[in-house]
Amino acid sequence: DPRLVRVELGNRAYDIAIGPGLLAGIGARIAALRPGARVAIVTDRNVAQHHLGTVEASLAAAGITSSAIVIEPGESAKSYAGLQQVTEGLIAARIERRDLVLALGGGVVGDLAGFAASVVRRGLDFVQAPTSLLAQVDSSVGGKTGINSPQGKNLIGAFHQPVLVVADTGALDTLPARELRAGYAEVAKYGLLGDAKLFDWLEGAWREIVTGSAERVAAVAASCTAKAAIVARDETETGDRALLNLGHTFGHALEAGAGYSQRLLHGEGVSIGMCLAFAYSARLGLCSGQDVVRAQRHLEAVGLPTRISDVPGELPDTDGLMTLIAQDKKVSRGQLTFILTRGIGEAFVAKDVDAASVRAFLEEMR
Ligand code: NAD
Ligand code: ZN
Repeated sequence: DPRLVRVELGNRAYDIAIGPGLLAGIGARIAALRPGARVAIVTDRNVAQHHLGTVEASLAAAGITSSAIVIEPGESAKSYAGLQQVTEGLIAARIERRDLVLALGGGVVGDLAGFAASVVRRGLDFVQAPTSLLAQVDSSVGGKTGINSPQGKNLIGAFHQPVLVVADTGALDTLPARELRAGYAEVAKYGLLGDAKLFDWLEGAWREIVTGSAERVAAVAASCTAKAAIVARDETETGDRALLNLGHTFGHALEAGAGYSQRLLHGEGVSIGMCLAFAYSARLGLCSGQDVVRAQRHLEAVGLPTRISDVPGELPDTDGLMTLIAQDKKVSRGQLTFILTRGIGEAFVAKDVDAASVRAFLEEMR
């Protein structure tokens, strides 16, 4: 039986089913949830190659009529053009209010399909079937959907919660190893931000998690449980949900500095960013040097970058990075909002971080 994590929001709730092989049974699960509904699958070419056949066969076996919209892989699909392709595809497939959109893929597919679902016919229900580790532990849970603007990432979007999440941990076997490690950074994030016991466990279990086994199911479930609890407290990020941004202010600046290219994947930027957030917290006297070393050692062991100098190629100078940090949405009225920490599992939201001191710190860390 799969592990079930329940996401409870003010007026509704949904399940996250987690386990190996779940895509082969997704048809029965959807038929039980919404009898008679038709399904429009949104996926990308890479994921389609490995998993679309399984999903289509499972839907057909459950008596569900389905069609598929296949987008190009990569972040560039989270664009107006990608949105047009998916929204018009859904309309052409005659998807109606009682039908379902099924996002089968990584965070790109989930964000794009979820946003398309939120606007077609003023809102269609959708199911997330995340196939990357990042999507299984982070992007498929919590209801943030959207696309990028030429002016910045994720600037156009909506909160639109799925009605069901099906995380097939076996689907991760076809994910490139580098993508798997990058997703793992977000798993480590949950331990580092709020759960020292989880972090202790990860230090011993990460090999099994990465190679795939019962530990992988447990790690995805622990991550979803952590995220669900935070989202339940603060669905639209007026407070605590910002904790999920641990490492992301520095991380996004590095990602932007590397041009959102293959030079630095999101999770890799987050890994470096978390190390910087710990080091900066130690600098402010908030957290011990030992905790900084422990966080860094773990991420390094997994094969993740932990230093700014680990980013291959050129990056903007420190002032350039500061400009990128200032453009990040976590800045309001000149004050930087940062996630700082008092130690492993003890992150907190700091709303009045002094930009000059961050600049001096960054200058030294290069
Ligand atoms: P992605 O969707 O681009 O997937 C990474 C790569 O792996 C792609 O090439 C994809 O085709 C491939 N892939 C996915 N699953 C596969 C599988 N099982 N087998 C083989 N290949 C597979 O990227 P991602 O890292 O999953 O997600 C990143 C996106 O998620 C970003 O756009 C980010 O903004 C978004 N995100 C959203 C949230 C949220 O709360 N909505 C949170 C975090 C990140
Ligand atoms: Zn992230």
